[in-house]
Amino acid sequence: MIPSAFEYVRPSSLSEALAQLAQGGDGAKLMSGGHSLLPMMKLRLAAPGTLIDIAELPELQGIMIGTSEVVIGAATTHAQIEHHPELLQALPLLPSIAGLIADATVRNRGTIGGSLAHADPSADWPAAMLALDATIEAMGPQGQRSIPAASFFKGLFETDLRPDEIIVRVRIPVVSNRRGSYRKFRHPASGYAVVGVAVVLAYEANRCSGGRIAVTGFAAHAFRTKAAEAALAGYAGQPDQTQRLIDLAFTGASPLEDRFADADYRSQLGRTMLRRALADVISLD
Ligand SMILES: Cc1cc2nc3c(=O)[nH]c(=O)nc-3n(C[C@H](O)[C@H](O)[C@H](O)COP(=O)(O)OP(=O)(O)OC[C@H]3O[C@@H](n4cnc5c(N)ncnc54)[C@H](O)[C@@H]3O)c2cc1C
Repeated sequence: MIPSAFEYVRPSSLSEALAQLAQGGDGAKLMSGGHSLLPMMKLRLAAPGTLIDIAELPELQGIMIGTSEVVIGAATTHAQIEHHPELLQALPLLPSIAGLIADATVRNRGTIGGSLAHADPSADWPAAMLALDATIEAMGPQGQRSIPAASFFKGLFETDLRPDEIIVRVRIPVVSNRRGSYRKFRHPASGYAVVGVAVVLAYEANRCSGGRIAVTGFAAHAFRTKAAEAALAGYAGQPDQTQRLIDLAFTGASPLEDRFADADYRSQLGRTMLRRALADVISLD
């Protein structure tokens, strides 16, 4: 449980961090909250020669709430999101999801940027970012890049991020007449989502006009259930409508299997979490 030796550097600006990342090459690793990276280092699953601590970088801080979007700095901790009073008003889904992550110790150090970059198949933020149609902004030697959440998650612990890029912030559109819910079945030890489902529905004249449904914990990476989304218009919570959405959402999906949940159990959990999230949204009417 002791990591191999490494050099620790703490840049004071984003440009300095980018230079150190470029200089360090394959041997350098960014560290934000350290709550995914350090456990991996202790298990010797990662052995970076240089750790670049970006947790305090001013460019990565802060939550800004505008009329058309919410912008969250990459180094914002889960706890800062959970307890942000204006965010509770503007986009209550985010604080409620933050409060479901792990425990207070992890929430006080772990960051939204670190979670997205790490892309754990059971992490909560990927499902939220997909359902809320977020954009992830990254800075690299070639400048800034905006990556839609829809094309960010590529595989098991794999994203569209390049090795020389740093996530700087996420942008989440603020849309009126939107209702959302996130339901997850917590792993009893870690709190990670064995399966988590985020549902965000849009309403026009009190009628559901569409929306997004995103699932985490179920497969190698978080994904949107496009077939179910296509059937969301007009959804009013009728049992037959709900059943159809559930069938569409998981038909053809291959669930992960691990020591806690085999494929059948995970499949059933996915269906149950979606049913509960849909019921939550309908009850917000
Ligand atoms: C006991 C325990 C329980 C947990 N339970 C949950 C849970 O229930 N739900 C959940 O979602 N998560 C859970 N986590 C994970 C936690 O949320 C982590 O904090 C998060 O996944 C990683 O964020 P971090 O800031 O700690 O990243 P770090 O550990 O610092 O970094 C993780 C990876 O991302 C890279 N990175 C970090 N920041 C950036 C950036 N800005 N740009 C580019 N790359 C970057 C690093 O190089 C590293 O590869 C748990 C962790 C622990 C230890």
